[in-house]
This record gives sequence, C-alpha cells and structure tokens, in this order.
Amino acid sequence: MIDISWYEALGLADIAAKVADGTRLSIEDGERLFACPDVTAVGALAHHARTRLHGDKAFYVINRHINYTNICINGCLFCAYSRERGQEGAFRLSLDEILAKATEGPAPAEIHVVGGCHPEIPLAFFEEMLAALKRALPDTELKCFTAVEIAHFARLEGIATSDVLARLKRAGLAMMPGGGAEIFAPEVRTRICPKKSTGEEWLRIAGEAHQTGIPTNCTMLYGHIETVRHRLEHLDALRRRQDETGGFVCFIPLAFQVKNNLLGLSEGTTGVEDLRTIAVSRLMLDNIPHIKAYWIMLGVKLAQTALLFGADDLDGTVVEEKIGHMAGADSAAALSRGDLEAMIRGVGLTPVQRGARFDAKEAAS
Ligand code: SF4
Repeated sequence: MIDISWYEALGLADIAAKVADGTRLSIEDGERLFACPDVTAVGALAHHARTRLHGDKAFYVINRHINYTNICINGCLFCAYSRERGQEGAFRLSLDEILAKATEGPAPAEIHVVGGCHPEIPLAFFEEMLAALKRALPDTELKCFTAVEIAHFARLEGIATSDVLARLKRAGLAMMPGGGAEIFAPEVRTRICPKKSTGEEWLRIAGEAHQTGIPTNCTMLYGHIETVRHRLEHLDALRRRQDETGGFVCFIPLAFQVKNNLLGLSEGTTGVEDLRTIAVSRLMLDNIPHIKAYWIMLGVKLAQTALLFGADDLDGTVVEEKIGHMAGADSAAALSRGDLEAMIRGVGLTPVQRGARFDAKEAAS
C-alpha cells in the first residue's frame, strides 16, 4: 500500500496515484522525482512497483565474465579499460585461453563475453568461439557482445548488422548484455565517446537483435557530464523501443567510475544519487521487467540496499571483472552463491537463482 499522505506533503500525490494504478510516468514526472528532497519516498514508490512485479523475489545468477580483448579503436574518453595495440597492458585472448577461463570450475548458468572493438578480429573467430563454448558447456547460456561490438563487426566484414546477428545466433548466441548505450543524447555522446556508434544506431541494433530472437539487456552510464533530463530522455527512448520490440529483459544503471579517464572528472556519484537513479529507473521503465543493482559498480552494501529501492537483481558471481575495476570500482572480483543469497535474505527478500534470460534455475535452498 502506498501512503498517499506522505506524497501529498511532498507535492507528489499525483505521481504516487499513477504508480498505484500503473499509469506510465512522464519525463516531467521523472524530473520531479529526481528533485524530491526525500529519497526514501522515491525509493518506497519504486519498491512498490518492483514488489508488484516480483513479490519478495530477488534474483542472482551463477555466471562468469570473460573479456577477450581491451584493444579498442574507439577510445571513449570515460573508458579506463581500453588500450591501443602495443600499449602497455594491452591484451587479446586466444580461443584456447577463452575456453580455459570458461571451463575452470563448475559450469556457470551464464557466460558474459564482451571486449573492445579490435581492428582485426574477424567475425569467424567469434562464431568459432560461440560454437566451442557451446560444445564445452552445453547447458550454459552465452550472453555476449554489445550493440557497439555488433556495429563494429559489421563494419569490419562489410555486411549488415542484421546479418552479423543472424550468424552469431546460429553459432550459439543466446542473449546480449546491453552495454555501450551510455547516454543517447548526441550532445553528450560527442563529448564522451565521439567514435562510438550513435544512440540511434545502438537502439536500432537492439531492435534488430530482438527481431532476430536475441533478447538483450540495456544500460545507462550516468554521473558524468549528463543532466537529469538526459537520463530521463535515455530511459524514455529505451521504453519506446521496448514498446515496439519487447526484447529488453533487464536495465542496468551504471554509475560512472572516476579513476583513469580522460574526461577530467574527479567526483563520482554519491550513494544517494545511485539509489535515486535506480528508483526512478524502476518507476519510468514500466515495460522492462528487471532492474539490476550491479554490485561490481555499486559495491556490495549499496547493491544490497538498492534491493529496497526498486532493483530486483544483483547480477552474479562474476568471477573475474576487468572493466569496472580498471575504472576504480573497489568491490571484490567475485562473490559466492552463499554471499549473494545472504545479501538478499539480509533485506528480507527471497533469493532466486536465474539464467541469463531470467528463467528460474531452481528455488533457492
Ligand atoms: S567503452 Fe568500449 S568502445 Fe569505448 S573505448 Fe572502452 S572498450 Fe572501446
């Protein structure tokens, strides 16, 4: 139940009434939620919305991240991960090295593979990689490649992005992870990632993936030079794409990490801003089922708190994470199933182990 008197006192009774009856919020409603001085009131509305969708369930996955290269031609100014060829720290994994990482330890439910836009790796390498992973781990879902990588593969091969997606799906691609969206607004994108695919291209490729039968996640990188309006327009663009294609499974707000970037920004987001952004995302994205509190970027304690501010998923065990940690994330590199379940139980929710596409793997013990 929503306590409307709380929201009357804050001048948000109309928004609370919309949330109570499931009416879509406008961008202007989102601006008022960002401006509300009481973040716990915004969080309570988001918790109401997530509880209506998921009851007391909160999700996690036994997964493993693999980054196949950090060599990238895009040179995004916020990116602490990428290197040029020959630069100190540059790496590119062979197929054998990828397979060795994927198969060390028990088989995960999901393998998440992303990398930089390498100037030479052909699409055939990734087809071979997917097929080899599928042979080695037949029950593991392969969640690989951002829309930006798909655009890059298409340019390298001189073929359409829809053909790249069809070939990767045939080779075993089950799902795409949703990175590279950053902030869609061109005036932000030209300042933080001028060489990367445009927001329009990202949205087009996500739609093509959905139409090819490849569900995707979606993301937003916030806390750098963008305004609140940019964030809300980004969420609205995702919501409109979802109305058309229905293929987004989970939204992941990614807080900008301040270390090792070329934007010259030294201030990161605060915990309150992170919680508010997660809450407003839950409230705006009424047609995307899941909101992730990505513990790698948020840290374990804030991710746990976010489960009461609209998030319903913690991501997973991860095992080896490079991208966020090179940008200054100081979380652990891995969590165990027990750690994730304890985080969820600690806020009074019930852990549910899921697959990449959020099908339940088993009831938590
Ligand atoms: S964010 Fe991605 S595309 Fe941009 S430089 Fe880093 S690895 Fe390359």
